[in-house]
Parts: sequence; structure tokens; C-alpha cells
Amino acid sequence: MNQMTNEKCQITNGKWSFRFAISFVILAILLSTAAVFAQKETRNGSHTSRPREAFSEADRGLVEEAIGVVCRERARDERGSVPIDDMQKRPSLPLQAPDVVSGVARAQRLLPVAKDLVISSLRQLSATYKIDQARFHSARLNRAIARIQAVKRIKPDIDARDNASVFLKSPHTITFGTIFLAGLRSDEGMVSVLAHELVHIGDGDTDVLRPLFRAVGERASNLTGLRIHEQRAEELTCDLVGSLAVQSFVAGTPNYDPLPRRLARSVEHNCVEEDDSDEEHLSPRNTLRALLTIDGTLRRGIVFGK
Ligand SMILES: [Zn+2]
Repeated sequence: MNQMTNEKCQITNGKWSFRFAISFVILAILLSTAAVFAQKETRNGSHTSRPREAFSEADRGLVEEAIGVVCRERARDERGSVPIDDMQKRPSLPLQAPDVVSGVARAQRLLPVAKDLVISSLRQLSATYKIDQARFHSARLNRAIARIQAVKRIKPDIDARDNASVFLKSPHTITFGTIFLAGLRSDEGMVSVLAHELVHIGDGDTDVLRPLFRAVGERASNLTGLRIHEQRAEELTCDLVGSLAVQSFVAGTPNYDPLPRRLARSVEHNCVEEDDSDEEHLSPRNTLRALLTIDGTLRRGIVFGK
């Protein structure tokens, strides 16, 4: 099992085997329709590509600067999250360990607010990425919202180690490895990861959020040059909702911690030394890069503190 990323997102084997089965059917349909579309394309000479979004060298420089700030803030912050490659090397913690007990309490306390913030972030992103006019959008979003609202419980799990997961067989529960629970020391870090998992739950076994994942992945791919499709697009969107949720959380809970530090907590578990990737996830540092590219408000908040 690849253990690189913090959220293994074992969205149940059932979902994947189901996807595997229907993928053949979809492939057949696609192959049969591809020829028709190809013909149309040739006949009409139509071009469906949109103008490329501008992203200047200065913007790119700001992304790299923001990554530096995030990882420096993490190192200085007593509530800084443990990087996920560091978590991987740690021994599992018992359920009674004080950091695990306080982590469970933190997660359970923040679950209601995280649910509300995820729902408003999904509405906001649907408008930003212009998928709110798509057919059946409201029905799809409402199904996701109902699933998110039904989540009630955080379940600590020793064997899950440095992962958080959702299993569609128990859709009211987010399972958290004890190392992960102990490694997220701030409310902001916890809201971000809870939000990530809630988006997976919202998508559920019927992929109702797929149009959003596709739109986010496409934009992120265009702006970064990284390959962000399919599961990678879903994972990045989960992280994006996490950082949006934290931005709202920070705005609603003012305190004396500097803004860059609070915002950094939403993403700093990606400040790894060993930057590995797999098919389903960008590497942690490329996740940081992609997030800070597609979320200009996060980028500016971290670099300029406003
Ligand atoms: Zn995930």
C-alpha cells in the first residue's frame, strides 16, 4: 500500500470494483461515440478550446514564495502539523495516548463547523467554476449535501496510522489513524482534513461531484502543467475545499495568531522532505504548488498577511 499521502481515501473497495466494472461499459460507449464526435469536429471545423487563463511569471514567483512561507511557519509554530512523510516513520499510537484523545476531541468538536463550511465552499466553487448552470446540478449538489450532513462520528483507528479514510459502507463515520490525529495540532489543520474527507463522502458512490472535480483538475492542469485528472483531480478538489473551509473558519474565529500562520496550518502537512507521488495523488509539494496556484486568495493571504 502506498503510504505517501495523508488521506488514503480508501473510498471502499466496493466503489472501485464497481467503477472497474462500469468502466468497460463506459469505454465501449465512448469508443462508439468518439468516431461520431471526430466526424463532427472535422465537418464543422469547430474549436471548443477556451482562451487560456493568464498566469504571469510574477504569479508563479508568488506561489513559490508562499510555499516557503508555509513551511517556515510550520517549523516555527508550536501548533504546526507534522509533515506526512514524518508521520509515516512514527510508530502507531495507542487510543489512550493523550495526543490521540485530544485529537479525537478536536475532530469531534470541529465536525459540525467543518460540515457547514464544506457545504458553503462547494456552493461557492460551483459558481466560480461555472458548473452551477449544468443540468441536474442542484439535484447532484443536494445529494452531496445530504450525505455530508449525515456524518456524525470520528473513529480513531490504530491500524489506519497516518491516514484518514471514509468507507462508503459506514457513511456517517470518518476513520482517523491515531498518528494522524496526534499530528494535526491546530484547529485549522483539523478543519482542513475533515473538510477533505467530507468532500469524498459528499461525492459518495455515485460521483455526484465529478463535474466539479473535472473543472478544478482541468484548470489546475492548465496553470501548473502538472497532470491532474481523475482521482488526482478529486484529491486536489478535496484539498481546495479544505483550504477554503479554513479561510472561512479563520475569518469567523479571530485571534492573535498571524494570518499567514493560521492559513499555513491548512496545508503545511505537505511540507515533506520525501516528495513522492502516485497515480491517485500529486506529490505533497506539488499539491501545495497546485493549491497555491488555483487559490489566489490563499496565496496572497499567506505571502502578504491580508
Ligand atoms: Zn482524499
